[in-house]
Amino acid sequence: MARPTLSLVLPIYNEEEVIPELHERLQEFLRELALDTEVIFVNDGSKDRSMPLLRKICKGEPRYRVLSFARNFGHQIAITAGVDWARGRAVVVMDADLQDPPSVVLEMVAKWREGYDVVYAKRRSREGETFFKLLTAKIFYRVFASMIPIAVPLDTGDFRLMSRRVVVALRALRETHRFVRGMVAWIGFKQTAVLYDRPARFAGETKYPLRKMIRFAVDGITSFSVLPLRFATYLGMFISMCSVGVAIWAIVGKFVLHNTVPGWSAEVVLVSLLAAVQLLMIGIVGEYIGRIYEQVKGRPTYLVGDRVNAERKPDDDELDDEDEQGGALADEDVGETTPEQ
Ligand code: UDP
Ligand code: MG
Repeated sequence: MARPTLSLVLPIYNEEEVIPELHERLQEFLRELALDTEVIFVNDGSKDRSMPLLRKICKGEPRYRVLSFARNFGHQIAITAGVDWARGRAVVVMDADLQDPPSVVLEMVAKWREGYDVVYAKRRSREGETFFKLLTAKIFYRVFASMIPIAVPLDTGDFRLMSRRVVVALRALRETHRFVRGMVAWIGFKQTAVLYDRPARFAGETKYPLRKMIRFAVDGITSFSVLPLRFATYLGMFISMCSVGVAIWAIVGKFVLHNTVPGWSAEVVLVSLLAAVQLLMIGIVGEYIGRIYEQVKGRPTYLVGDRVNAERKPDDDELDDEDEQGGALADEDVGETTPEQ
């Protein structure tokens, strides 16, 4: 089967309010794009009518494919599955809620043609997000970037185009806890940004409540940095030094000043402080051990149940000459219409 030029990957979790409009916009976009394109929807265990709606829009549309998970596995895993199944010479990951406008994909394709392997969309502004989300996201990206040894773009989500050699490299990284934007930065190759203004979600609510955001941030940091573990060591060293001071104070108090009885407050403060610090450090170590445990179990990252227009997972991770060059679009691909399958 001929390889499509472009694969779009869209994770879907309870997006029934968005799917009809998404379909309209995608159709318009596919007409405008005039490249052989496939669209892979990954239904991440939606509990609403997303799956029947996806089936409906797939009728008579051979360019659409749907993978439906056995349950909700999470956004990053949904992206992973889409990338695993994508056959295009380049793959674009985008949110389904129309916060990632298809028009930006045109700019990404243009950059890809210039020879870039990864074109990520960097948010110039974000509409319709709470002040809290904007602030925490801004802080997180900066803290994250300062903690890890590789260069990661700031204020950038998973909306990006990746050439096939990046996709093949990404498929080889089978980490259980996945922070895809970090993994793509880790892979390297020629990367560049396009700037865009991120509109508000078209309809429905965010599927990233605070609880998931915190988990996501912890996954990001623990997947790329052991700095928290080192922090435990440093803090331990610092407290050890303090405790020597406290010991001297206690000895002097007892044998020289003879005033050891009124030490109750200091004792209570020290005991609770040390207990808190120890528990915190055990917690940090636990975060890593928990991840080692999850990884060692070696369970499959996701389970696909229903599929539409997706018979077989592509297992050809061989790169041809064109892919080795970053797969930048050959001129003859431009203007090609979609062949019927
Ligand atoms: N999503 C998913 N699984 C989840 C949560 C989210 O597949 O467990 C999808 C969701 O349908 C959307 C994308 O991930 O296409 C981004 O989610 P959302 O727009 O809710 O996040 P936000 O833009 O608010 O950060
Ligand atoms: Mg969104």
